[in-house]
Amino acid sequence: MIRSGIFLLFLYFFSTQAGAATLELSGPLDQGTAVLLRVIGLSPGAKASGKLNASPFPITPDGLAVIGLDMEAPPGLVTIDVTLANPDGRRETLRKEMAIAKRNYQEERISLPEGKVTPPNKALEERIQRETESIKAVYRLRDGQVGFQNGFRQPVTGRFSGVFGSRRILNGKPKNPHNGVDIAAPKGTLVQATAAGLVALAGANYVLTGNTLVLHHGHGVVSLYAHLDQMLVAEGDWVTQGQTIGYVGTTGRSTGPHLHWGTLVRGQRVDPLRLPGVENNAPIP
Ligand SMILES: [Zn+2]
Repeated sequence: MIRSGIFLLFLYFFSTQAGAATLELSGPLDQGTAVLLRVIGLSPGAKASGKLNASPFPITPDGLAVIGLDMEAPPGLVTIDVTLANPDGRRETLRKEMAIAKRNYQEERISLPEGKVTPPNKALEERIQRETESIKAVYRLRDGQVGFQNGFRQPVTGRFSGVFGSRRILNGKPKNPHNGVDIAAPKGTLVQATAAGLVALAGANYVLTGNTLVLHHGHGVVSLYAHLDQMLVAEGDWVTQGQTIGYVGTTGRSTGPHLHWGTLVRGQRVDPLRLPGVENNAPIP
């Protein structure tokens, strides 16, 4: 009697599991963090779409998505909802909830003598605005071929000379938080694509970011490479993960050879070192 009861329990367990899809995340979500989301057990022909809190996000036909939380995303409960539209008309919703804590960022106080602060210059300000807008135009891209299936990799190895999220206070005035990481490396060091993607911007000699590349990895996931000495790819090129795209330099507003590497997930500023795959790279001395 007991035996048959256990047997029935097993049958029940397997029958409910068969065909039921589940959600899997590559790691914990946090402020300024991105993760890969996989829908496991997606039925062939089913269409999946997601929502992170109220914001919709796309999912590939084989059930893959990148989701990210901005460096200043409000702490509290975050909900991931995935809706599956099965070919037989059946709809299913999968939910994951998690609590997001507040992350502490460094503060950097910088003092410059008044004479060192550049006086206002209208022509230069207009040029900076134009260049910033061309970068933002790429950030707004949502569609396109997906290049993040294999996760992400660090584009350069070197010493971290600037951390993500640090708040810069210049002569007492708060500036925008640092939205990337700085990796110091000798001029001419190879810079490799963090993931496969489309070269959506190759901007020459931008006032702030110098020679600037932006790769679009699909679904609104972008990576930015600034202060390059040279760019080896052109807008419209498709690059593979690890392909050399340029050389480390100190062009634009920069005090020494380094790569500023920034990443966004549909406008959310995420720490490049908290992209799925990057955290598994060998430690950098
Ligand atoms: Zn930087």
